Amino acid sequence: MTQSKKNKPPKLYVLERRDFQELLTALSADGYQLIGPTLREGAVTYAEITAVEDLPIGYTDDQEKGTYRLHQAREPRLFGCGPGPHSWKKYLFPARMRLWQAQRSNGGFTVQADAHTPDKLALIGVRACELQAIAIQDRVFTGGAYVDPAYQAQRENTFIVAVNCGRANKTCFCTSMHTGPKAVSGYDLALTEVYTPEQHYFLIESGSPSGDEVLHALPTRPAAVDEVEAGEAIIAATSAQMERSLETKGLKDLLYASYDHQRWDAVAARCLACGNCTMVCPTCFCTTVEDVTDLSGDTAERWRKWDSCFTMEFSYIVGGSIRSTAKARYRQWLTHKLATWVDQFGTMGCVGCGRCITWCPVGIDITEEVREIQTTSVAPTAAVTERKRKRENT
Ligand code: SF4
Ligand code: SF4
Repeated sequence: MTQSKKNKPPKLYVLERRDFQELLTALSADGYQLIGPTLREGAVTYAEITAVEDLPIGYTDDQEKGTYRLHQAREPRLFGCGPGPHSWKKYLFPARMRLWQAQRSNGGFTVQADAHTPDKLALIGVRACELQAIAIQDRVFTGGAYVDPAYQAQRENTFIVAVNCGRANKTCFCTSMHTGPKAVSGYDLALTEVYTPEQHYFLIESGSPSGDEVLHALPTRPAAVDEVEAGEAIIAATSAQMERSLETKGLKDLLYASYDHQRWDAVAARCLACGNCTMVCPTCFCTTVEDVTDLSGDTAERWRKWDSCFTMEFSYIVGGSIRSTAKARYRQWLTHKLATWVDQFGTMGCVGCGRCITWCPVGIDITEEVREIQTTSVAPTAAVTERKRKRENT
């Protein structure tokens, strides 16, 4: 559905706040089920919306290591909150999916694969880092020799309305990962919310033919120069607000050479191996399968479920788990995100959304862990270099 326009500067229009419902109505009229940020159980979570009032109007959030607080802001913005514990992957790559069902019949079994008919979804309020996370999962699920048909079908039926960030949370570091705060590709429509006591409007631009169609149906007008500049200033201020950073230069090789770094012991002493960081991460994609039968034994089902590299079972092979300690599991997770992912998929597996920092119950911070390794590492020994060489050759 989404295509980026290359070599053609997007044209910006203005959609007044009072007309925002028109966007939702137009998408609904096109048959889309609308999914957007909502207030649920003290957090912003993605859920079905039908009207602008379903958005967390006038709310904002504070995020820090192991801390998340919502509060009412003075300004009635529609998109004043950053990413919460949910990510869009739950719609594109569901946490539970039945793969097939088998029925006992005539002394044998009949197996029926599930069809996985996609929903026609419009995702409202996708942040720049989340667009990049979706692009990463696109590569994982559709970019190789084996395509996930359910994921591909859902992506082809998904319309994306991105929102450029008007503020950075303390856990955000998208500027380090070159994934935000401005949406540059992968959207159908992109918005920048501009609020002053006198004005409240959205700069809106299209990124695909589907976006063009919806945009032309809306009551917009071309943006004036000062309105365009106001949007640019908001994004520049968000970049400048970013407090966290992660130095990626040379990081892959450093992590490959840091298998025995003492920092893994320090983080393992705190890590609960709860797997929260993997569940909230918009790029993590590991799954397991579970077979279940009914009590009569006549029906069996196979389900695919999200899994986490922090569980003992994840690395279980004959004789036990090969990553039996929290140290081994945290090292695997961080090294995969920032090093082996590059060899697998051509980019890092982290987009700097900060969710794993906010939702880690003991406040482990990926940027701190990396910085500690970077500032305390010595040149790799011959043994480490040899191990790296062997790993790269297997
Ligand atoms: S790093 Fe934090 S969130 Fe991740 S497994 Fe350890 S304790 Fe849980
Ligand atoms: S590793 Fe953490 S900061 Fe990076 S994308 Fe995953 S949740 Fe976001």
